[in-house]
Amino acid sequence: MAATRKPKLAVWKFSSCDGCQLTLLDCEDELLALVGEVEIANFPEASRTVVKGPYDLSLVEGSITTPHDAERIHQVRRSSKLLVTIGACATAGGIQALKNFKDVREFISIVYATPAYIDTLNKSTPIADHVRVDFELRGCPINKNQLVEVISAFLHGRKPNTPAHSVCIECKQRGTVCVMVAQGTPCLGPVTHAGCGAICPSYNRGCYGCFGPMETPNTESLSGRWTGLGVKQQDLLRVFRSFNANAEPFRRESERHED
Ligand code: SF4
Ligand code: SF4
Repeated sequence: MAATRKPKLAVWKFSSCDGCQLTLLDCEDELLALVGEVEIANFPEASRTVVKGPYDLSLVEGSITTPHDAERIHQVRRSSKLLVTIGACATAGGIQALKNFKDVREFISIVYATPAYIDTLNKSTPIADHVRVDFELRGCPINKNQLVEVISAFLHGRKPNTPAHSVCIECKQRGTVCVMVAQGTPCLGPVTHAGCGAICPSYNRGCYGCFGPMETPNTESLSGRWTGLGVKQQDLLRVFRSFNANAEPFRRESERHED
């Protein structure tokens, strides 16, 4: 009797720091179980072995910042039955999307000794701006438990259970007293996507939005609350302009605080 073929898993890197791929490597025990369930067919950070596609599930880390990557992502899409983007770079453009607010030619001439060697696009954009994406997993970096949930869900043909509510709900679930109400600490939790388990408020500091915007964020209202706490316009611009600066609700809110 022919053996059942294991689903092929591929991991692809675009412009990123590799932190989200490291989250997958950091799964350790779960990774051993995963290896029993899938064939890791393409994961250069873990192995030099590359098995030809098509792939059942592709995980894509990183944003599109070069003309070459803008072509390569279409090849990845064509060879993947399901494509899941992982992390703020892939889902929003990442910290490198700060260049979207400036003229990139200025940076090139200042930073590089030989600017002629640099072949870059004007903007850093998420994967979903270029190809169809089946699911976006947020975070900078992503959360390990959520990653295992997403892989397991797609391998079993079900929808991943990753709530789209705010970090505030996670504070309530773990019994953390609200840092903004109790201590007057500015916190982006009310507009930030859940997934981290509300780590920062549990250490008495405000959330700085590394999981990006939640489903229906009221950023304007939160900015008003921060202003009441004494936060200046220029600082409001900066807090919305970090890892998820190019995510639409955060981008619009940061632009409201430009001079
Ligand atoms: S989302 Fe954050 S951790 Fe993941 S690759 Fe991008 S910069 Fe690194
Ligand atoms: S609390 Fe906010 S900044 Fe801290 S890890 Fe969670 S989403 Fe990121």
